[in-house]
Amino acid sequence: MNKRIDLHMHSIFSDGELLPSEIARRAHVLDHEAIAITDHVDASNIDCVRRIRDVILDIRENWDIEVIPGAEITHAPAEIIGKLANKAKKLGAEIIVVHGETLMEPVVEGTNWAAVNCPDVDILAHPGLITPEEAQTAKDNNIALEISARRGHALSNGHVAKVAMEVGANLVVDTDTHAPEDIISYETAYNIAKGAGLPEKEILRALRDNPLEILRNKGIVE
Ligand SMILES: [Zn+2]
Ligand SMILES: [Zn+2]
Repeated sequence: MNKRIDLHMHSIFSDGELLPSEIARRAHVLDHEAIAITDHVDASNIDCVRRIRDVILDIRENWDIEVIPGAEITHAPAEIIGKLANKAKKLGAEIIVVHGETLMEPVVEGTNWAAVNCPDVDILAHPGLITPEEAQTAKDNNIALEISARRGHALSNGHVAKVAMEVGANLVVDTDTHAPEDIISYETAYNIAKGAGLPEKEILRALRDNPLEILRNKGIVE
């Protein structure tokens, strides 16, 4: 059976409900092999990345699930996204997500563009009505685009899937977990990808090959 990889989850270090250890435990029970804790950060709280990293490395060492410290740059002015991504990385975030221009929130225009032009960014989350130019730049800079399992953010999944496939950008299926019930099985992730209009081959890439490639490039998995 295929295992899940979810690189976008929130703990009590931002607005999630669970401790990193409970997220890891629940994800392990739902057959995840790797998860990233990517709490919301901007300039006001980015220092918490170091603390999250300390906590998470303990879990990673002791449990049979890869738990990766990360950060989601959220509602920052577009001009400083690159600077914050670089700082989060220096503080120990191994997966950098940017909170993209979802249809659900007034995310500042230019966020998608800033994210896809930043070499430290791994995933542009819930990118809303992403343009072909933004998707092409994401592909050129090896940044994955997210198919979101989260209610609301998922409204533009079909559009994101279509634009990404047109330019050949990599997709990942992540939950943006904030609460226990947000963590999903491989089968549910498969169905969300299918619901976004991805053909079988692209579904398998989005669920396995693309997230594994991100982790392999960083030396997190072999
Ligand atoms: Zn987000
Ligand atoms: Zn998020």
